[in-house]
Amino acid sequence: MRCIFCKSDSSSSRSVEHIIPESLGNTEHVLPPGVVCDSCNNYFGGKIEQPLLASGFFTQVRARNNVANKKGRFPPVEGIHLQSGTQVNLERDKDNSLSLYPVHDRDGAILIQNILNSTRGTIIIPIETEPNRLQFSRFLGKVAIEVLAERLCHLPGGLDEIVDKTELDPLRYYARRGNSNVWPFHMRRIYPEDCHFFAEDVGYYELLHEYTLLYTDNFELFLVLALFGVEYTINMGEPHISGYLDWLQKNGGRSPLYS
Ligand SMILES: [Zn+2]
Repeated sequence: MRCIFCKSDSSSSRSVEHIIPESLGNTEHVLPPGVVCDSCNNYFGGKIEQPLLASGFFTQVRARNNVANKKGRFPPVEGIHLQSGTQVNLERDKDNSLSLYPVHDRDGAILIQNILNSTRGTIIIPIETEPNRLQFSRFLGKVAIEVLAERLCHLPGGLDEIVDKTELDPLRYYARRGNSNVWPFHMRRIYPEDCHFFAEDVGYYELLHEYTLLYTDNFELFLVLALFGVEYTINMGEPHISGYLDWLQKNGGRSPLYS
């Protein structure tokens, strides 16, 4: 068995790979051990996903939508207590109450003094509207290669074909090793962040993530991923997105996720 990113022998690898991090609500889309070797698995977890999930953009979106991490904790959201001028964290507890505490221990006394001395206060939370582009495009590249593996891993020779496909080399190495140039991706909101969907058997539910692959008439392959209502699209062969813009124009702007 060979790893779909570094192509090295991965027969002794033990970790399963989550295509979308568990912290974004994914428990079902998992690749068996060895599809991604332990070393690449560790690298993606520590160097790509962890910083991305800890970034202001994702902690805010997870906090707004009550998505707990694997340990059942909600991410704190950073803000400023206006009256004392201190940086504070707001964190939802398991019992749904809200905790407020200083980011820096040294601000504890002034924050508490200020709250005790006033009848009301204001907390400002600067909203981050998009993720870090370099980090996020590498994450999309990782997800793209893994979604392809998820589709093909049950077919005889399917994984070998992914490993041997040189057309995928630029994206797999970009995801795994990085590059100073950002591999561009397309980003647009397709439904509200807190949208509730309805299905007969489950009732109302929120959709945290969904994805598909789009293969166009021009033989270009795209990953289309939606997280919290924002659709992100990356070209798996070349670092440009013009083919997707053409596809959108021909298809009245509809999302490939809802074909
Ligand atoms: Zn590897």
